[in-house]
Amino acid sequence: MKNTGSVCVLVLALIFVGSVCAQSKTEEFLLKYGYLAERSGNNRAENPTPEEIEQAILKFQRFTGLPQTGRLDETTKNKMIAPRCGVKDLGGDLAEFRAVSKWPKNLITWKIRQFSETSKMSHGQQRRAMRKGLKRWADVTPLQFRETSGKPTLDIIFGKKNHGDNHPFDGRGGVLAHAFFPRNGRTHFDDDENWVNDKTSGTHLETVAAHEFGHALGLGHSAEPKSIMAPYYQTFPDGFTLHKDDVAGIQKLYGKNPNGPITTTTSKTKKTTPTSTPRSTTTTSPPRGKGFCNHVYRSIDAAMRIDENDFVFVDNGKVIDGRTGQKMAIQNLFYDGPNTVHAAVYSKDFSKAYLFKDNQVWAYTLSHYGQFRLVKDFPKRFTNKYVQKPECAMLYNFHGERIFLVKDGYFVEFMPYYETVAPYRGYKTSDFFLNIPSRIDAAISSDNKVQFIVKDKAYTMPNDVRVVSIRGKPTNLAFNKCQN
Ligand SMILES: [Zn+2]
Ligand SMILES: [Zn+2]
Repeated sequence: MKNTGSVCVLVLALIFVGSVCAQSKTEEFLLKYGYLAERSGNNRAENPTPEEIEQAILKFQRFTGLPQTGRLDETTKNKMIAPRCGVKDLGGDLAEFRAVSKWPKNLITWKIRQFSETSKMSHGQQRRAMRKGLKRWADVTPLQFRETSGKPTLDIIFGKKNHGDNHPFDGRGGVLAHAFFPRNGRTHFDDDENWVNDKTSGTHLETVAAHEFGHALGLGHSAEPKSIMAPYYQTFPDGFTLHKDDVAGIQKLYGKNPNGPITTTTSKTKKTTPTSTPRSTTTTSPPRGKGFCNHVYRSIDAAMRIDENDFVFVDNGKVIDGRTGQKMAIQNLFYDGPNTVHAAVYSKDFSKAYLFKDNQVWAYTLSHYGQFRLVKDFPKRFTNKYVQKPECAMLYNFHGERIFLVKDGYFVEFMPYYETVAPYRGYKTSDFFLNIPSRIDAAISSDNKVQFIVKDKAYTMPNDVRVVSIRGKPTNLAFNKCQN
């Protein structure tokens, strides 16, 4: 009896500390990015009032295009922890490009003074990413960029945590990089990120570099979400061109490129004629219409539902986060995760998301702030060769939760408690689940039903009858809608 009392006190204390931390984290964020005014003089010790915080949250929601609730709802929390640039959003007033300050010259030298020590990219590849990032700006202005071995105008370093200014980095995720406005030139990249030069895994250095150089040349953050100067990290699967908002901003500072108009596109509608060089695979397999969260993709590889939010893995390396509607490389959402996913499922009993690739499984918990954290000692290998590269993982919930991996018309149980797959051939799927498709791309499971996805159709099976509908519906109807 004595123990019960102290346990209660401890639980209460934890809840209290938890809410205080959540509050101050939000305030810290709003202050850091310029949404809450800095306190000074007599007001220094005062905390911001709830009204001030509400106003600040509203400003943040307006600047980042979220529903304006003024409350710290899930969507807002998720946005606050998404990967982004460390530079202030400057008060959060709605404005398109902001031209802050400029260099009094058109020849700008640059140098990587400290290369990334953690990236797999060679020094040559890192320099090339910088050169390509700068070229975006050179194309539309009279600016010229030259790499130097002497003292550069743009001083580029990769650093971790405290790296010599008063703006320490924060480890993997969160802040990716920051840069100082003219006439400063310091451009810093967080070396705890996984910098890459392809677009399938990690954080794309060239894209982030183009953004940071925008700051180093004098542009602030833009509220135009498609602009390269938008504060949040975005991926451009088909490469990117500067948005007209970016071009207007930089040309306001430096003027146009005297060597003729370099065409830019406003966003997606770039036409290619049959005579121009075909790029990527889109010419052979045209993308489907807009699917989950308005994204275009060719294939669905896996899917899972956590509470009411869907996570859909597409195109062999991307995931669409139904909480934010954003599509990104899998490892940007699931740190230290696989680069592609064959099957995914969320266990309510264990509060864990499981990702399967080949014969490995990764387990993730979801933090209070909505970040996925890899569970210690994962990924783990399983030896059951029959379900290597599973077609899907289904959660069958009927008088208790069971997780099955499906492959080639058979299913085998995955046992979260033992964190492995049962070691036998398994059972024929059609013996247990009537009308189940013979080949499945993904399954999305909720409490009382499983929906099997095959190409662009979804087939529903209520758990209590175990009969799969013969008529499919468009996959879009299988997913919960995005919040925005
Ligand atoms: Zn920025
Ligand atoms: Zn720095």
